[in-house]
Amino acid sequence: MLMQNIESHSTFSSPRQSSSELGLCSRLTENVSLSPHFTLREMCESKTAEEHGIDNTPPKEAVENLRRLCEGCLEPLREALQLPVVITSGFRTKALNDKLAHSSSTSQHMRGEAADMYVVQGSSTSEATKSMTRFKVQGSNAASSRFKVQGHRELLIKAFREILTNPKIDFDQLILYPTFIHVSYVSKERNRHGILKARGNGKLGYGRLTRADALTLE
Ligand SMILES: [Zn+2]
Repeated sequence: MLMQNIESHSTFSSPRQSSSELGLCSRLTENVSLSPHFTLREMCESKTAEEHGIDNTPPKEAVENLRRLCEGCLEPLREALQLPVVITSGFRTKALNDKLAHSSSTSQHMRGEAADMYVVQGSSTSEATKSMTRFKVQGSNAASSRFKVQGHRELLIKAFREILTNPKIDFDQLILYPTFIHVSYVSKERNRHGILKARGNGKLGYGRLTRADALTLE
């Protein structure tokens, strides 16, 4: 079966001074927990949304999907690695998704079924938050060169393998990008277990992988 909604992520928001408040409803500002280590807020925050004045508040169904994504994939991953998982993009309204160049028009991010993330060294949430801030402020290129020096790629591969091999973790679609992982989750019954590797940042297409091949990636 072909995956119809392959993601693409070549564009991140450009650096800009943050001034305005996110136009988020109280549900987000209250910082609702989706699982022990993940909040609704971090799944919805977006520099691009902020820059364009887009209210990125998810509908109720999307919140439930985000919860399933956290419980079925991200939380057990975080638990197994004992490392902070930094979310760079979770839920996207259609308005936000449209602002991102090369994003799929059927992106699972719009249903709250997908997240882009990477893993950092250290064990406290504050480190992850600092790292996330750095990522968002400086843009992906600055962050990726910095993290390469700190073993960013090795941690990414470690997380990728954990998702593939840990029996407590399930996924719908898993895509390895040069500097982050895209992972989606629908439900135990409907997860398709598609594994892909992005060429370039998705600009050059995607290669489908078997589970065995995916485990040999470095
Ligand atoms: Zn994605």
